[in-house]
Amino acid sequence: MNNKTIILTGDRPTGPLHLGHFVGSLRQRVALQRDYQQFVLVADLQGLTDNGSNPQKIRNNIPEVLADYLAAGIDPSLTTICLQSALPALAELTALYMNIVTVARVERNPTVKNEIMQKGFARSLPVGFLVYPISQAADITAFKANVVPVGDDQLPMLEQTNEIVHKMNSLLPTPVLQHCKAMLSETSRLPGIDGNAKMSKSLGNTLLLSVSEEAIHRAVSAMYTDPHHLKVTDPGQIDGNIVFTYLDAFHPNKAKIAEMKANYQQGGLGDKTCKNELEVCLQELIAPMRERRATYIQDKGMLMALLQKGSERAHDVTQKTVREVKCGLGLPVF
Ligand code: ATP
Ligand code: MG
Repeated sequence: MNNKTIILTGDRPTGPLHLGHFVGSLRQRVALQRDYQQFVLVADLQGLTDNGSNPQKIRNNIPEVLADYLAAGIDPSLTTICLQSALPALAELTALYMNIVTVARVERNPTVKNEIMQKGFARSLPVGFLVYPISQAADITAFKANVVPVGDDQLPMLEQTNEIVHKMNSLLPTPVLQHCKAMLSETSRLPGIDGNAKMSKSLGNTLLLSVSEEAIHRAVSAMYTDPHHLKVTDPGQIDGNIVFTYLDAFHPNKAKIAEMKANYQQGGLGDKTCKNELEVCLQELIAPMRERRATYIQDKGMLMALLQKGSERAHDVTQKTVREVKCGLGLPVF
């Protein structure tokens, strides 16, 4: 990465953010914002693709996500935070890209396929939902982003984005769009507290950045470990043991966790001790975020004002890209 690196990520305002977002993307955004040009998009239009009849839910969650950003350490003086629906260039690029992607290609996207199944859409699948990866390609390319720090559910989206970039650039006299690369974190898919493969707002298996001390305690106590590890002296399994997955994701002392894993596998380390270790580290991580968040969410006016300011900045950047694409295609640009 160099100082020309442009980073774009985003979140659907479908609910407050959770620890999956934190380890999958937020933590990296905070680390990168000082050295690179970073945009973070509140993807309200994408949120509407499976909430078309409930726009109020999306509206209400915009300040929630903003408060989460600030609580996690995203600094609006270093990162441009902007709103998808306030940037018409994104919708225009989506309309242009829709003509160069086939229905067969969008139907092949494994993340979308999986989500369609999970949400039980069948024939009631909204068209907008099926094509949201095209709109996501518009988001990424409008900013000319070349690095996208995301969870691994987003890899098919980036693959599709790069196909669109290739195809669109080949139609232009000189290339305008940038190819992009995913930046995966060490924990590119945090499982839910129920052991489900992905912690997700839609699955209700989350620990929010604002989760209470008591709820952390309850969630950790109820976590699945190795069902055959009945006595402390029994050798235990690490694979599929969610307590260790979380210790790997959140515990700052990697050497200590390696030692605990070895003891657990040999026999001699109890589940309760592991859970205590996890609970302490989660409480320490979340307490300051919960506190900051509680202050920020009181001031929705301030949150929306910073979103407006960021969107104005992003407007110019994205407008320039769409103009370049339209000119390249030979469309009149007034
Ligand atoms: P929804 O269920 O509404 O789709 P979500 O929990 O999947 O919500 P998104 O807004 O779709 O959240 O995702 C925002 C970003 O967070 C994406 O980069 C995604 O890869 C990342 N992310 C979401 N959940 C996880 C997770 N469990 N582990 C790692 N990264 C995650
Ligand atoms: Mg999602």
